[in-house]
Amino acid sequence: MLNRRKFIRSTALSAGCIAVGNTAFSMIGQQQIQAQKTEPIIISTWDFGIAANKAGWQILAEGGRALDAIEHAAWVPEADVHNQTVGYGGLPDRDGFVTLDACIMDELGNCGAVLAIQNIKHPISVARKVMEKTPHVMLAGDGALQFALENGFLKENLLTKESEAAWREWLKTAKYSPVMNIENKQYRNSSPQKLPGNQYNHDTIGILAIDAKGNISGGCTTSGMAYKLHGRIGDSPIIGAGLYVDNEVGGATSTGVGEEVVRNVGSFLVVELMRQGYAPEDACKEAVLRIIKKKPEIAKNIQVGFLAINKKGEHGAFAIQKGFSYAVCNARQQDLLIPGKSYY
Ligand code: ASP
Repeated sequence: MLNRRKFIRSTALSAGCIAVGNTAFSMIGQQQIQAQKTEPIIISTWDFGIAANKAGWQILAEGGRALDAIEHAAWVPEADVHNQTVGYGGLPDRDGFVTLDACIMDELGNCGAVLAIQNIKHPISVARKVMEKTPHVMLAGDGALQFALENGFLKENLLTKESEAAWREWLKTAKYSPVMNIENKQYRNSSPQKLPGNQYNHDTIGILAIDAKGNISGGCTTSGMAYKLHGRIGDSPIIGAGLYVDNEVGGATSTGVGEEVVRNVGSFLVVELMRQGYAPEDACKEAVLRIIKKKPEIAKNIQVGFLAINKKGEHGAFAIQKGFSYAVCNARQQDLLIPGKSYY
């Protein structure tokens, strides 16, 4: 059986991952029985989730753990100099510091997070180290940096010329006002200085994965809201707000104006609604409605989107504003971009 499965895997892998993972074969006497098995899948927020998913899929397709897939996926936008909302090249805070937030959560309910960490390119990996090597869940600021350095991470300058130029341009007015859906290609391909409004850029990658064992993990990594107050923490590294996973039920993650997500403990809410039987999209919609109900005037002008997956691998998303999308990668499709539905 093992050999047969291995053969199917490697054949499928060399054929571009078609039909890996969604079927298990077993031999009973001479008869081959085909049985349904959990299908590995990885989903991520925004169009930059496509490249991230691809990296995570390499792990899942080999039968690897969802947690490893999450970390590998997160490395892609974190290292992408052109992505100004995550990791290296991220837009700085009001005072010119690139401060990063990230968290990770596994199938056992273990979790780790770093808040406002500076000079470390892969905060997702520091978050994982916090989870695995300390009795704590969160490390912030200087303490997070110290821990990262002690664990072999390199201190690097993350402020690129482009992001510094954008910040200097912003300083001319220093007005904190949003550009929604900055994630859309037409915005990200233009230089930040040319953005409409006042270059108030944000967007997080939230990633959820299910591996061949049916285990769920999640991760979230971001440079947060551009030009935020120094020390501001968003929803992204807060377990329950920016990310939540319950291996019995599913996982959820969020993107957008983090303050509104924190107020509603958004991702936890989405998972709990799925526990009550809500489909992923309906659970995301309900979480969005809570935000709108509490702050209708604020909600009109901001974006918040939730993305969720349940134990069966069904996924869905819902956002306040149009323009939210998420990327899906499984055995059949590696680059699928699905528009999330929206309230407005
Ligand atoms: N949620 C992130 C934050 O508030 C930003 C984003 O996803 O757009 O920091």
